[in-house]
Amino acid sequence: MTDLIIVGAGPAGLAAALHAKALGHHPLLLEAESAGRDRRGSRAIFIHRRTLDLLDAAHPGLGPRIAADGLVWPVKQTFWAGRKVFERAYTADQVRRAPFASLPQPAIEQHLLDACRTVGVDIRWDTPVTAVRITGDTVTLHTADSTVLHTPYLIAADGARSTIRTSLGIRLSGGTSRKAFVIADVAEDPGLPLPPARVFHYRHPAAHKRNVLLVPFRGGWRMDIQCRPDDDPAHLTDRAPRFAHALLGPAYRDRVTWASSYHFRQRVAEQFTDPHQRVLLAGEAAHQFPPFGARGMNSGIADAHAAATAIHTALTAPIPRTAHDAVRHYADRRRTAALHNSTAAATALAHLEADRLAIRARQYAAALLAPRWPRAGQWLDGAPYGPRLNHAPTTGY
Ligand SMILES: Cc1cc2nc3c(=O)[nH]c(=O)nc-3n(C[C@H](O)[C@H](O)[C@H](O)COP(=O)(O)OP(=O)(O)OC[C@H]3O[C@@H](n4cnc5c(N)ncnc54)[C@H](O)[C@@H]3O)c2cc1C
Repeated sequence: MTDLIIVGAGPAGLAAALHAKALGHHPLLLEAESAGRDRRGSRAIFIHRRTLDLLDAAHPGLGPRIAADGLVWPVKQTFWAGRKVFERAYTADQVRRAPFASLPQPAIEQHLLDACRTVGVDIRWDTPVTAVRITGDTVTLHTADSTVLHTPYLIAADGARSTIRTSLGIRLSGGTSRKAFVIADVAEDPGLPLPPARVFHYRHPAAHKRNVLLVPFRGGWRMDIQCRPDDDPAHLTDRAPRFAHALLGPAYRDRVTWASSYHFRQRVAEQFTDPHQRVLLAGEAAHQFPPFGARGMNSGIADAHAAATAIHTALTAPIPRTAHDAVRHYADRRRTAALHNSTAAATALAHLEADRLAIRARQYAAALLAPRWPRAGQWLDGAPYGPRLNHAPTTGY
């Protein structure tokens, strides 16, 4: 019997395996998909400094490697109806210290996977878990090929549709964003590279007054277009090349590598562990947030770190009570963090959707005042990402 099984080789599962290994354990990582799977697509691109530090603690050198592969944009700007209302430039020294890295999720996952392989994490691909049962202090897992596995502790990092969470009857509460967003990745034209600035546009004139976020990463751009209530998201997704032309330039029309539309889920599990304190939910198995503020993958990696630490404490605890307390503490602390993240993401989404007159009035007033009162422009720049959180001293989210 292995001392820890992790289900799901997304960022949360891979990070949990790395941290468990660093703490001296031999986790078994089960993944439904095959080793050569295609994980392209518009998912996370923003990795916070604190996440880089957590990964570096689990595998020294990993944080700087991810930061070096990513991009720190030296400028961020915000426009209102085509007029600049905010700009901030980072100094060369700030850029060098990498307060964050902009890197597509598949590249981040590849770094995590390489690190797992280096330290010899046992990964079993093509192994979907179909059910889980807990009796006393043993977790029993059933896989699609009828294998039965036993473990004292399990980290469920099997994503938003988590089989483990469903199998345990743990419900999610929350909802889904009403408006849709079209998100596309656009490959950079090496002959015509654009200055790497993160740019948010309220009411972009070239996008028929839709809000647009443009985020550079090494080798490309993330284009995020907020649909209007009368838009057909599928139709708008098909028009991604036209948007790339209008927003990035004619050379970018044929460089869209991925486009998709989303209604963002915003849901938190009602418990992060089972009544026996043997299964710990982490990442999207435990919570889903809209991406504004980059809380999804980042908080999933923070969960992973905390879950591996709690299991280490439980496995080395002198008495069962200490073991239960460690897992209960994990569940309470990370659920509190998820609720904070959910509230912050909801604030960001309400600002972007601007359904309420009071929000729209505040935005218009700030746009008017911005040329003479920089704090108004600063507020317009920061509000699409929600309030900053500092409730968890080690992670911030
Ligand atoms: C458009 C968009 C933009 C985003 N931007 C950001 C951002 O900038 N920053 C950020 O922090 N987050 C962002 N996110 C969120 C981020 O992508 C997710 O939070 C992250 O992928 C969740 O990681 P995870 O490991 O929990 O789950 P997943 O990545 O979903 O991984 C789950 C894994 O479990 C496997 N699995 C599932 N079921 C089983 C089973 N039964 N048995 C075995 N294996 C199983 C799956 O195959 C998968 O490999 C964004 C998301 C979207 C959609």
